[in-house]
Amino acid sequence: MSVVTRFPPSPTGFLHIGGVRTALFNWFFARQSGGRFLLRIEDTDRERSSQEAVQAIIDGLEWLGIDFDEGPIFQTDRMDRYSEMVQMLLDKKKAYRCYCSKERLSKLRELQLSKREKPRYDGLCRNLRENKQASENYVVRLRTPGEGQVVVEDLVQGTVSYQNAELDDLIIARGDGTPTYHLAAVVDDIDMGVTHVIRGDDHLNNTPRQLHLYQALGKKKPEHAHIPMIHGNDGKKLSKRHGALSVLEYRELGFLPEAVINYLSRLGWSRGDQEIFSVDDLTALFGLEDVNKAAARFDVDKLTWINHQHMLQLDSSRLVSAVRPYLPMAIPKTDERVARIFQIQRERAKTLVELAFGSSYFFQKPQEYEPKAAKKHLREEAVPVLSRTKMELESMTEWSISSLDATINKISEDCGLGMGKIAQPLRVALTGTAASPGIGETLFLIGRDEVLDRISFAVRFIENGQKASE
Ligand code: GLU
Repeated sequence: MSVVTRFPPSPTGFLHIGGVRTALFNWFFARQSGGRFLLRIEDTDRERSSQEAVQAIIDGLEWLGIDFDEGPIFQTDRMDRYSEMVQMLLDKKKAYRCYCSKERLSKLRELQLSKREKPRYDGLCRNLRENKQASENYVVRLRTPGEGQVVVEDLVQGTVSYQNAELDDLIIARGDGTPTYHLAAVVDDIDMGVTHVIRGDDHLNNTPRQLHLYQALGKKKPEHAHIPMIHGNDGKKLSKRHGALSVLEYRELGFLPEAVINYLSRLGWSRGDQEIFSVDDLTALFGLEDVNKAAARFDVDKLTWINHQHMLQLDSSRLVSAVRPYLPMAIPKTDERVARIFQIQRERAKTLVELAFGSSYFFQKPQEYEPKAAKKHLREEAVPVLSRTKMELESMTEWSISSLDATINKISEDCGLGMGKIAQPLRVALTGTAASPGIGETLFLIGRDEVLDRISFAVRFIENGQKASE
C-alpha cells in the first residue's frame, strides 16, 4: 500500500511555523517511501477563510520547497459530496436530525455542570419521529454508541482509550447543509486515500469521534500520529510574542529555507545529538518512532544559530543568489569578487539580512560614517596618513591582497606609526565603520578607483571639520 499523507490548513490566517512543522513531517513521511503528499484547503468556514491566506500558504510552502503531488484541493468545491455522505448516514439511520434549540442546550449544559457532570448532549432527538418541517432549524448528529470504548492506536502517543459514554453525538452537518470539520475531513481522507494522518496533538481528542465516523461510513481508518505542540521558550502556548510569525516573515528576516526546515524538524523529533541536517538527510532519516511526546520549545536564538551554520555551508553561487534579494542595490552577476565578499562576510553574519547590510559598502560608498568611528579615527592627524596612503596606492602596479598588505605595512614603518593608526582611518574612510575584514582584503575587494575616491572624500570630510561635502 503506497503512503498518502496530507496537509490540510484552514485558510484563516498566515501559515505559521507550527503548521509548517506539521506539513514537513507529512512531507518527509510521504517522500521517503515514494508516496504522495496532498495539500487540502479546509475552507468550509467561508467567513473566516480568505484568498490572501490561501496564497500565503501556497507561497510559504513554495519558498520552503515543500511540493505537493495533488492540490490545492478546496473543500468548498466538494460540498455536494459531503451532503451526499450526510444523507447516506441519515438514510442508514447512523445519523439523525437534532432540533434542540441553543437555549435548551445551554440550559442542559448548566444543569450538568451544576451536578459536576461532564457536559454532553443528552440524546433527546435520537429517537424522534421525523415529522418536523424540513425548514425547521436542525443539525445532523452522528449516532455514537452509548457504551464500550473506542481506542486510538497512535504511532506517537501509543494506545489511548476513550469511553463512548464520554463522547457526544457528534454534529456532522448544520441545518443549512454545511458539513462540520469532522465530516469533511473524514470524507476527504477516505476519498483521497489518505493512509497516515499526521497532525498536532491538539487534535488527539477529535480522533475517537472521527473513528466512529469511519465506522459509520463503513471505511477503514487511516493510521494516526499526533505530534507534540510547539510552545514558547517559557513553556506557554506559542504566540506572536514568542516568534510565532508567518513563515514568510522569516524569509523577510533573512533566514534560509533549509535552516527553517532544519530547525522546525528538530522540534519534537531528534536523531542522537545531530543538529545540522540537510533537507535530503531529513527526508531519509525522519521516522515517527523518533518523535517525542512532550511539547517542544521554540527558541529563536537556536534557529538563528542553525541559520548561520547553513549559511556557512552554501556554495558560492547559491550564497550570492541567496543574499542578492536583500541588498538595496544591484550587484554584478556572480563573479569571483562578489562571491569572495560574501564568503568573508558570512563569518560574522547570522542572517542574510545582516550579511547584505554588512556588505553594502563593497558595492556603494558608505552613506555616512558611523559617528563614533569618525570621531575617533577621522581626525586632523589622519589627513597626512590618508594622503600618503592614497599616493602609495595610486602608484602600485599590482593590486593584490598580499601587495596591498605589504604597502600598508611599509607606510606604517615609514611613518613610525602603529598599524592601527594607518589601517583604522583607512577602514573608516572606506567602509564607514571601524570593523571590516583584513585591510588588504578590504582594499582589494573594493577596488582601486573606488578606494582612491573614498580616501579623497574622507580627507575633504576631515578638512571640512567633519562635515560631508563633495
Ligand atoms: N484544518 C485542520 C487544522 O488546521 C486540520 C486538522 C486535521 O489535520 O485533521 O487544524
